[in-house]
Amino acid sequence: MDRLCTPWRFAYVTGENKEEGCVFCNRVTGDEKKHFVLHRGEHWYMLLNLYPYNSGHILLVLNRHQPLLGQCTPEELAEMGQLLSVMEAALTESFHPDGINCGYNGGSSAGAGIPEHLHMHMLPRWTGDTNFMSTIGETRVMPQTLDQAYERLLPVVQRLVADRS
Ligand SMILES: [Zn+2]
Repeated sequence: MDRLCTPWRFAYVTGENKEEGCVFCNRVTGDEKKHFVLHRGEHWYMLLNLYPYNSGHILLVLNRHQPLLGQCTPEELAEMGQLLSVMEAALTESFHPDGINCGYNGGSSAGAGIPEHLHMHMLPRWTGDTNFMSTIGETRVMPQTLDQAYERLLPVVQRLVADRS
């Protein structure tokens, strides 16, 4: 039951969905809607996890390919804090969860699906939410909710980012 404690350990991409190169580098630019990108900052971008633990599972991905918080610049860390606070506010407003998890995995032994490219997880939690949701392998597949979560979160994230800039 370690998923109760570390839901962000689940991989962004499973073995059946391999693509050329690094999936996070591949999404630094490109079609926002296609990849469920909610916001592009100066140093980070925000997108829905394709294999969410819960509806509203958001990733914050560093624009450059490096693995650790300790290798971030002060500017990158400052923007990370700003965007994590936007994510928390957006999840609270959009989903009214009972709680929120935020975390990251440094290195593959900590459970990172893509350990070489730094990304933070944040997701809403509800009392009892681990009891009824099915799992498939190591990922929870809820494709029908991705579009709904994106449409709900996008205007909220855009407004919160604008309000704080
Ligand atoms: Zn990368």
